[in-house]
Amino acid sequence: MAEVLVYVDHVDGAVRKPTLELLTLARRIGEPVAVAVGAGAEATAPALAEHGATRVLTADAPEFADYLVVPKVDALQAAYEAVSPAAVLVPSSAEGKEIAARLAVRIGSGIITDAVDLEADDKGPVATQSAFAASFTTKSRVSKGTPVITVKPNSAAVEAAPAAGAVEALAVTFSAQATGTKVVSRTPRESTGRPELTEAAIVVSGGRGVNGAENFAIIEALADSLGAAVGASRAAVDAGWYPHSNQVGQTGKSVSPQLYIASGISGAIQHRAGMQTSKTIVAINKDAEAPIFDLVDYGVVGDLFDVVPQLTEEVQSRKG
Ligand code: FAD
Repeated sequence: MAEVLVYVDHVDGAVRKPTLELLTLARRIGEPVAVAVGAGAEATAPALAEHGATRVLTADAPEFADYLVVPKVDALQAAYEAVSPAAVLVPSSAEGKEIAARLAVRIGSGIITDAVDLEADDKGPVATQSAFAASFTTKSRVSKGTPVITVKPNSAAVEAAPAAGAVEALAVTFSAQATGTKVVSRTPRESTGRPELTEAAIVVSGGRGVNGAENFAIIEALADSLGAAVGASRAAVDAGWYPHSNQVGQTGKSVSPQLYIASGISGAIQHRAGMQTSKTIVAINKDAEAPIFDLVDYGVVGDLFDVVPQLTEEVQSRKG
């Protein structure tokens, strides 16, 4: 059976959920071979084996932490040359997309970014993407070289599929460009205790209707009752009510959770662009004509200051 390379996103050996989702998709194409680099690379092996990795290729060196993405591209290319895979799958983070794009250029292959699903037929992987602010769904395949595909978080379920997960050292020769851009400092993000916006299974977002930074406490309370991340429309971000890092949309982040709850958001095309692939969409808006109601699964016409606290209370009471 053909092998499929899966680039592992991890923090000191803790594998992030989008990589486990990639393993589910990789198994539809062939046998997943994981590539983990940097501090803690070997510690990723048990989780990767549990989710279907037949082999885990690992490499660690100071270059992975001290320089931007090129050392990681060098490692992924070394794995590509060692394995000759049927496809290379990479999580669709900002870093993942840069690594994938650089690899595709180096190996002369086509690339598909931000896939939301993957299937395989006898000609190889077929990727589903959402195009033009999610107005269309397209299916495409790479016609040149080995398909390099980045996949958005929440595109597949995490499935247990125990496999050997044999750890093998990957020999990496760093290219001349590897040390071109040095990391001079790192600022850890302030922890809110909430899941990362792009990876969260549930996102609760607020817009201009929230009407003030202090009122975002209502949105946060609902998010916390559901274990969700908090998102915001650009109007709310531009007003200074919530950080830009939480903006959902064309010029913010793209999310694809199981459940997206939009409160006081009209549903402008640029906002939709970042959330329309969510599996279930709920909107709370006092204007029954708001465009967001055209795309929802469930809509509540009402004042968010009445509805959201009631919803939070109901969720809390059901949790017992
Ligand atoms: P509004 O459109 O003003 O809607 C507010 C909604 O709240 C209304 O529907 C109103 O009925 C409702 N409301 C008011 N009070 C209440 C209440 N008490 N209870 C319930 N409902 C209430 N936007 C993004 O979000 N993300 C982007 O990334 C983004 N990128 C952009 C890029 C470009 C190039 C451009 C031109 C625009 C972009 N925008 C983006 C802006 C976008 O066009 C909209 O202006 C923005 O999404 C509107 O935000 P909103 O829905 O919160 O505000």
